[in-house]
Amino acid sequence: MAYQHLWADGEPIGLPLGKVVCVGRNYAAHAQELNNPIPQQPLLFMKPASSVAALAQPLVLPKGRGDVHYETEIALLIGQPLSQASQEQAKAAIMGVGVALDLTLRALQAELKKQGHPWERAKAFDGACPLSAFVSVDQFPDLNAVPLSLMLNGDLRQQGSSAQMIWPISALVAYISSQFSLQPGDLILTGTPKGVGPLQAGDQLEVALPGFLQVQTEVLGDEG
Ligand code: ZN
Repeated sequence: MAYQHLWADGEPIGLPLGKVVCVGRNYAAHAQELNNPIPQQPLLFMKPASSVAALAQPLVLPKGRGDVHYETEIALLIGQPLSQASQEQAKAAIMGVGVALDLTLRALQAELKKQGHPWERAKAFDGACPLSAFVSVDQFPDLNAVPLSLMLNGDLRQQGSSAQMIWPISALVAYISSQFSLQPGDLILTGTPKGVGPLQAGDQLEVALPGFLQVQTEVLGDEG
């Protein structure tokens, strides 16, 4: 079934699926675990619409291309056009908040980084952006205190909060809009806390914004 933006109660959201703008190294502890310096400006990259899949459906990983790592991230659904926005305008344009996995071919990314090449081959493959349904932004009393977590096969692997972001959500969205326009239906993935690691066929995942949203999913098994 083709992906469509949904509210958490299953109602469709009448916006097209646009681009996915991602930020790297927005949590200091994650930058450190991969031995990356903390950047002076947000490190931006994109995933194409073709990489988006429903998180609740079994995750399909690329075969024979090395380890696929999970990165659990707060996802923002943009509801209004934004360009050169102030932080207040940026905040007002966020329509929904969800959770996504920024799936990454880690060894390939390391090789591309070493060569100074773009990351798309490691980050933009089909299925590289499993995405939840959205909770209306009005339900969040403070966008600077949104919790996120990942349980993998019953073990807590990632736990964090937007409070730990180097660039808080409104500053980040405003900065992105200073670099290129955002359109209704675009998404922003806001970076991952520490604890990233590889996925295996058959893994069971519980991806959550605790208190707001919880999605059970699994990695598609090896079926020959
Ligand atoms: Zn990421």
